[in-house]
Amino acid sequence: MNDKTSGHMVIVEWDGGTPPTKWYSRLKEYGLRVRGNKDVGPVERRAKTAGVIFQEGAIVCNKESTARMLATLAYSMGAKAVMTGVMVIDEFQMLPEDAAIMQRITNQWGKRGPKNAEDAGIYTVTCREEAATHVVDLRERPVVCPQCGGTHITWRRGEQRVTMPIPDRMDVFDYWYATRTPNAAFEIPREDELSGYFVHAADSVQMDDAIRAAERHSRTLAGAAVNEALRTLDIIYCLAQEPQSARLQRRVATLSEYYAGQGKTNYQLAPSKGYDMVDIAGVDRHFMQYL
Ligand SMILES: [Zn+2]
Repeated sequence: MNDKTSGHMVIVEWDGGTPPTKWYSRLKEYGLRVRGNKDVGPVERRAKTAGVIFQEGAIVCNKESTARMLATLAYSMGAKAVMTGVMVIDEFQMLPEDAAIMQRITNQWGKRGPKNAEDAGIYTVTCREEAATHVVDLRERPVVCPQCGGTHITWRRGEQRVTMPIPDRMDVFDYWYATRTPNAAFEIPREDELSGYFVHAADSVQMDDAIRAAERHSRTLAGAAVNEALRTLDIIYCLAQEPQSARLQRRVATLSEYYAGQGKTNYQLAPSKGYDMVDIAGVDRHFMQYL
């Protein structure tokens, strides 16, 4: 069996209270066992029965109907909060990226003693998961994104850069490259006519895979509004640095949300060779209107 499988999740919060004995006997009657048969792994175990109780209050079911039935049952038995949802379950395997992030967090938060006063100040933090740059006043160096809590960030001390808006007739990709300086320290600048620095196209563009992805995509943007074109390039550049494993899940979530509201789109679930509107809308729902 494949490691990766999806399940319908029920989360029940009794909020410190004890569920009635009937709750447990019902779970047993429905064939839901706490942790199931120990001879096989937990993911495989889940697939072979109606569901498995991973933890007290966290039940993963094969069928949505089972999940809804349990949610109703818990609710009627006085649970304080009941949530349901769909999740992709995958046995966790630590990647080198995970280890590097953990190391950074340990270095920062694992230190004993008072915070280093020199670390306090203004930071510009760029988050790849949102393709956004934030300015924050912190007492210590940033570890996670101040907006979304994601760990895929870069940061530097000081205020966000300020640029002139795009000059007339300047190519959008040239402007993007010159203002984001992806080869040095990628950051999305704020635009200001009066205080922004003047932008001219670079003599040569050094390409890496992420910049190449943005450049390729820029050819499809003729006719798009400049703000949206720039936002799109920021998103593509950030997406191209993210692990591909997250891409399909993001597409599933985006298209599910889209279909729930509208119903018809020209895009497919499977990722295409380049990035498309489903990937882009996966980062910024503003682009959902183009699906
Ligand atoms: Zn973020």
